Amino acid sequence: MIPLCIPEISGNEWKYVKECLDTNWVSSAGSYVNKFEEDFAKYIGSKKAVVTMNGTAALELALRVLGIGNGDEVIVSSMTFISPVNTIRYVGAEPVFVDACRDTYIMDAEKVEELITPRTKAIMPVHIYGHPVDMDKIMEIASKYNLYVIEDATEGLGSVYKGRELGSIGDIGCFSFNGNKLITTGAGGMLTTNNEMLGEKAKYLSTQTKKVLENGAFYHEEIGYNYRMPNLLAAMGCAQLENIERYIEIKRKNANLYNTLLSDVKGITIPVEKDNVKNVYWLYSILVEDEYPLSRDELIYKLRENGIESRTFFMPVHKMPPYVGSRHGDMLITNEISEKGINLPSSVGLTDNDIIKVINIIKSI
Ligand SMILES: *Cc1c(COP(=O)(O)O)cnc(C)c1O
Repeated sequence: MIPLCIPEISGNEWKYVKECLDTNWVSSAGSYVNKFEEDFAKYIGSKKAVVTMNGTAALELALRVLGIGNGDEVIVSSMTFISPVNTIRYVGAEPVFVDACRDTYIMDAEKVEELITPRTKAIMPVHIYGHPVDMDKIMEIASKYNLYVIEDATEGLGSVYKGRELGSIGDIGCFSFNGNKLITTGAGGMLTTNNEMLGEKAKYLSTQTKKVLENGAFYHEEIGYNYRMPNLLAAMGCAQLENIERYIEIKRKNANLYNTLLSDVKGITIPVEKDNVKNVYWLYSILVEDEYPLSRDELIYKLRENGIESRTFFMPVHKMPPYVGSRHGDMLITNEISEKGINLPSSVGLTDNDIIKVINIIKSI
């Protein structure tokens, strides 16, 4: 069985987690929480990083920190995991869906401006499957209309846009460390920002807005949230982060091998890397075009019969029952690629032989 994307645990994870257990520092305080935040901020190139219990919590926190709520609109991808869209609703705002690019699968920055209204407060680019969104264009629109930018950089961890790590370009960046992401803590997330005040506000809101008075009493000036990550998981995060460069290199090497072996297969479109960016290829993603002898789903079943796990692209969120009726632009590309796209096995532990096995099945048809 070749899985789609499983964790790689081969560094100091055992050692650091054992240290937490041995010293009793298992909960929300402890040195690994601070270390993970500091190391991550340094890696991303942000002034501040704040741990959260998962990526969804980081996204919700980002919206709350920026004061986005009732009556506001946020422009977001439809070809995405649903999490960022749901968080827009959590805070009482409305998602407005923008189409995707056919070659990179991400938000089409050229189609954002036409969706802006006086109610628009933020743009939420999601760096789907690893390729960076055109952030220059997004930041230019944001500054023209005075909008916030929240990057969902989960799938773009390790990708670079014009020399800058994803998650360090917008007002706030958000990450998930779920088991299938580039680095994992089992469950966990992170919020990054270059604005110290926003970072402090995020920490404050995520820790029940707790202020400790001189006599030790807890005082809460506003409604807070418990979105903390325990030391036990932050310890694992520190160990994972130590190996991130190696993971990125492997992902890129594997994508390169897939690209080489698939480049001459009729009816298969391979992923691209635009100029001035580095694509981490978090999930290696192809399109099954009409010229290919099997339909997209038939190819998925064929791979499954041979013990290979693959996955369809995300279904468009604007077609999910809670979001039918939400405002959106023209969705031609989103609808098309979500029906043609497949993610192929992309674990860090994938071998060349695994890749050759996958390719041989795709080519045998
Ligand atoms: C995984 C993922 C999330 C959600 O992260 P959780 O930690 O599962 O809450 C959000 N956005 C994107 C793009 C993701 O891939």
